[in-house]
Amino acid sequence: MRLIVVGSGIAGASCAYAASLLGAEVVLVDAAKPGRATAAGAGIICPWSAQVADPAWRALAYAAAREYPALIDGLAGLGETDVGYRRVGALALAEREEDRERIRQALVARRAAAPEIGEVTELSGADAQRLFPPLRADAAAVYIGGAARVDGRKLAGALARAAVRQGAVVRDGEAQLARDGGRVVGVSLGGELIEADAVVAATGAWTSSFLQAAGLAVPVEAQRGQIMHISLGAADTSRWPVVLPGASGHYLLAFDNGRIVAGATRETGSGLDYRITPAGLAEILEQALAVAPGLADGTYLETRIGFRPMGPGIRPLLGPVPGLNGLVVATGLGASGLTMGPLTGSLAAQAALGLAPAIDLKPFAPLPGPSS
Ligand SMILES: Cc1cc2nc3c(=O)[nH]c(=O)nc-3n(C[C@H](O)[C@H](O)[C@H](O)COP(=O)(O)OP(=O)(O)OC[C@H]3O[C@@H](n4cnc5c(N)ncnc54)[C@H](O)[C@@H]3O)c2cc1C
Repeated sequence: MRLIVVGSGIAGASCAYAASLLGAEVVLVDAAKPGRATAAGAGIICPWSAQVADPAWRALAYAAAREYPALIDGLAGLGETDVGYRRVGALALAEREEDRERIRQALVARRAAAPEIGEVTELSGADAQRLFPPLRADAAAVYIGGAARVDGRKLAGALARAAVRQGAVVRDGEAQLARDGGRVVGVSLGGELIEADAVVAATGAWTSSFLQAAGLAVPVEAQRGQIMHISLGAADTSRWPVVLPGASGHYLLAFDNGRIVAGATRETGSGLDYRITPAGLAEILEQALAVAPGLADGTYLETRIGFRPMGPGIRPLLGPVPGLNGLVVATGLGASGLTMGPLTGSLAAQAALGLAPAIDLKPFAPLPGPSS
């Protein structure tokens, strides 16, 4: 069976990897759009602290986080060991004791069904600062042991290379969906028709325009995120936890070699406007330095821009499209795509290859079916 995956961000690269492991003949196409979310995403994997009540979102996000270690081990077995993944824990900051207690209790309650949440402990400001030294000394927190971080760029690259090692072919360029009546027959790439039994649209924030050409209105909007990287030089930051400051939605995390990531803006309605703005930089710095004044003397490295693919609700848009055979959509991952992308991509592969997906995809239908 031949499958074309359009988009090699985390969703598409994961889909190509999973499909090639399932024995499909895979073609992975990408247009290298500026603002690919996967190349800008912070990489926090900690869905249990999100204020999301939707049970379908939670089931998918928790399952995705649970399956991460197996994915990382699988890639390591294929020689892909450099993906920036580490279970470093997270500090959910909360000034007031009653807020810390509320957070702790909620996490402990969720842990019954999600043991991967790991250790949940209240920490004093001094203890939190020992784990993440640039923090304010009074930044008390709840520690979440199971939280991890990953480098989206490296992971997507590793998944695509691993897929190629299983026989997948990578093509560069802008794909257009090719349909024949009620069936997708492949994509056209620079005038060449590449035929396939199924196509997966893992086209991120570009999904609406990709599908519009085939007459489909799938509502995905771009939400710009600007995110800053700062170097702390020779500091050993490799095991510093993620810092989740709460209501503002801003956060900090650390990778190896002194690299700190401070994010991020959430610019709803931005469209695909690929720019770094003074207001974006000011917002990131104000939020980061208020929590971690110790970053003030670091070295500014870069600011990345990514377009989060936002569906009409919190849920990803995942599954076949009614009335158009051979097309599966895998997008709408919003602010949690580096967490959910690997599982989402793998479920999309299963659906596209005609297998029963490991999780019921009905709640994630990209378009309502004829009978609903
Ligand atoms: C600043 C920021 C911080 C984030 N932090 C986190 C985080 O901490 N944790 C977390 O879980 N998530 C986070 N996210 C969210 C996550 O990064 C995204 O949800 C995820 O990367 C989306 O992946 P994707 O594969 O759907 O889309 P993308 O990564 O955008 O990939 C889509 C790909 O499709 C290609 N494409 C589009 N149209 C075509 C076409 N016609 N032909 C060929 N190719 C095409 C593009 O070139 C692109 O490469 C963050 C996002 C941002 C922006």
